[in-house]
Amino acid sequence: MHKGSIIVVSGPSGAGKGTVISRLLTQCRDIFFSVSVTTRGMRPGEVEGVHYHFISEREYDEILSADAFLETAEVHGCHYGTPAVPVLNAVGNGHDALLDIDVQGASQVMARCPEAVTVFLMPPSLQELEKRLRGRNTETEEKVLKRLSNARREVLEASRYQYVIVNDQLDDAVEQLKAVILASRHRTQTNRDQLNQIISTFQA
Ligand code: ADP
Ligand code: 5GP
Repeated sequence: MHKGSIIVVSGPSGAGKGTVISRLLTQCRDIFFSVSVTTRGMRPGEVEGVHYHFISEREYDEILSADAFLETAEVHGCHYGTPAVPVLNAVGNGHDALLDIDVQGASQVMARCPEAVTVFLMPPSLQELEKRLRGRNTETEEKVLKRLSNARREVLEASRYQYVIVNDQLDDAVEQLKAVILASRHRTQTNRDQLNQIISTFQA
């Protein structure tokens, strides 16, 4: 059995990461979604353990001290982190693990797991991003402005990612992410054992 891949998806707040990923997960049941911890408050409609593990700053400090994060960052004024064990277990068991994390966390994963697949989900424009962020109706005006100002910086990081998907039409973006994941399963490095086993039958 080959190992799964870590699939990192980043993009500015409001780009549609959550929407694209939740569509994808309903279609691809074998993909493991990494549920992050966060110290931000729960939004209406969010479910503990599904969207995030909502924790206090004290609990966050404990996880940090135990060195149990694969990556962690302060984003828009709150702490977020990816618990390492569930991701490493999923990948070890042959499942691809999808991480919805910001550009700082993605840099940490790129350094620590160079074989990770990295995807930047880009909104079609700043105007459309603002429209989506406001349309979602989950943030205060102050938080909308902070997220938009952070977006100006975050989009400059897109070229550090292996793939970029422009989330214009939702269905297209979901198909494109599925295509990236499918392609990653056929990377030579992911299939080295199987490849060597087949080649050995030619050498006998
Ligand atoms: P993120 O997780 O990146 O912060 P969301 O998934 O919450 O973004 O999406 C932000 C808003 O944009 C939501 O209201 C969502 O329904 C909407 N949205 C997502 N993708 C599209 C799209 N392709 N076209 C139009 N609206 C979209
Ligand atoms: P939101 O508060 O809108 O759910 O997420 C805000 C930002 O935090 C998004 O860019 C999202 O990708 C990022 N994020 C969510 N979970 C994590 C995580 O575990 N680590 C890091 N570094 N960023 C995260």
